[in-house]
Amino acid sequence: MIGAFSFLERSRPRLRRSAPILRYDARQSMGLFDYFEPEPPVGCARPGCAGALHGWQGKHQGNCQFIWQQGRIDPVDQSADEGSKLPPERLASIRLAPNEVIRSGYAHCDVCTGYAPFDIECVTDNQGLWIETRIDAKLAESKLIEDHWIQCMNCFDAWPHIPAKTVYRCPSCDHIVQR
Ligand SMILES: [Zn+2]
Ligand SMILES: [Zn+2]
Repeated sequence: MIGAFSFLERSRPRLRRSAPILRYDARQSMGLFDYFEPEPPVGCARPGCAGALHGWQGKHQGNCQFIWQQGRIDPVDQSADEGSKLPPERLASIRLAPNEVIRSGYAHCDVCTGYAPFDIECVTDNQGLWIETRIDAKLAESKLIEDHWIQCMNCFDAWPHIPAKTVYRCPSCDHIVQR
């Protein structure tokens, strides 16, 4: 009796300690997300920067470090070690779930290296094809004035238009404006 009791006393704390550590290790090695590359890419919102945001990390069922590109049915690649990658024919058969909205974040700009100040939502159709990318932020309509000013239709502030820049954050009301 005493022996059984002391066994419980010893083993219980050990189990409690090891469980969270095991879960943490599994998450690290299995990868928690896939990468998503919108097509066309989402532009950087930083003032003056016309770069594009890349490396969106999205969580969904069955993620295994696949790299998805909008408009393509199968993964373009897998961001795993060469040894642990799926063979090409197996990779070609992987699909996203149909009619899914996959939230992705932590993208960075390829010019200023800044992180995206918003998440995106990657929307699939009934075949699992990624067909739409939505910016998850307060969005505002805009108007181009005299070809070189962009006006926010939420607060009516205006700022200089920069050629090739597609996403702006309104300096007055913080809404995201897409051109
Ligand atoms: Zn940038
Ligand atoms: Zn505004």
